[in-house]
Parts: sequence; C-alpha cells; structure tokens
Amino acid sequence: MVSDDAATPADYGYDDDQHGYLHVCSKCFQLYERDRPDGLNQKCNCQPRDTEKWPGADFNERAMLCRCCGLDVLPSGSRWAPFFCSACGHFVMAVDVWNRRLVIPIGRHSLMHTWLPSTVLPSPAKGEVNLDELAESLTATLQTVSQAMDQLWKWNRTIMKPNLKHLGLKGDIPLSQYIEAVAAEKSGLSTRLEAFEGLCRLFQPKPRARRG
Ligand SMILES: [Zn+2]
Ligand SMILES: [Zn+2]
Repeated sequence: MVSDDAATPADYGYDDDQHGYLHVCSKCFQLYERDRPDGLNQKCNCQPRDTEKWPGADFNERAMLCRCCGLDVLPSGSRWAPFFCSACGHFVMAVDVWNRRLVIPIGRHSLMHTWLPSTVLPSPAKGEVNLDELAESLTATLQTVSQAMDQLWKWNRTIMKPNLKHLGLKGDIPLSQYIEAVAAEKSGLSTRLEAFEGLCRLFQPKPRARRG
C-alpha cells in the first residue's frame, strides 16, 4: 500500500535482491541490466536481444515498470505477468467492464481476459462448444493484445519523460535511484489517475474521416 507519508521503494515493488542490476534507459525508457554475474542481463529496446530464452522464462524480462503510470516495478518474464500495478490495473478493468469488451488488456495471455462478458468460453457443462465462435473470440483477443502492446510501449515513453524530468533525473540511471526518487516525491508527479486518463486517450478509437 502506498502512503503519502513514509513511502519506501518497497511500496513501489522495488526489491534490491531482485532488481539491483536494473537501470532505466534514457532513450527507450525500458529497463535493462548491467553486470549480472550470471551474464543473463535484461536488454532494453536499444540493445540486441538474446537469441536464447532464459531457463524457466516465457520471454527474457525480469521486471518492468507499470505500463500506465511508470511508477511501480512489476515482475515480468511470464506470459501471465500483468501489465499494470494494482491501482492502474483496476482502472483498466473498469474500462473493459464498462465497455463490455476488451479495450485495454491487463496482460499478454488471452486467458487473462475470460472474465469479460464478450469472451466465448469452452464450457463442457453447456454441452457443445461452438469452435468457430471460440476461435473468433480468441483471435480477436490476441489481435487486441498485440495492438495494445505497441500502444502501451508508446505510452511508456510518453509518461516516463515527464516522470524523469519532474524528478530531476537525467541519463541512464539505476532503477533504485528512480524508485527512491518516486517514493520520496510528495506531490507534483503525475498521479496514477492522470496517467490513466492519458492512456485512455491513446486507446480511444480515432474518429473516421468524413467522406466528401
Ligand atoms: Zn533503451
Ligand atoms: Zn500503475
């Protein structure tokens, strides 16, 4: 739980044991690692990716910042890992429920969105499963997730620039320094709700051009 009074890096998901090698890239704003003894350094978008997958990981990422507010460190590397901190995740789910369809995905895996009313589920209790409907629903979810991931990275750059500027941080910095500054900040930094409003604007459907 984050409190205004005595927030610590741990309140923002930071753990020195797990995150000590991570840095914030000043170009792409993703997290990358330096100098891990095991050599399995997480790469940011500016670096060539590893050709081999790390043992036990779905993809080579140990941690990332919340894709909405950029303030919380989240575990990554599993296809079940959420994109958002708990506060932003609740905002996102509210938008999906309000629209009764997947607008912003909460994670990569299509099965993370089966609580949505429009999702077709294979239900043996109901008897036959309409495989066409099921395939269509899963394809639509996968497409939405894939498009959303691009938008979320775009938003990550948009929100991290003002976050870093406000905190007076420049260049590539250790994640510990960033999170310490976030935790020490009492006011002025974009709140999660403000960040979420910006994220929603990015996901709004573009008005169709009128035909003459
Ligand atoms: Zn980078
Ligand atoms: Zn967040």
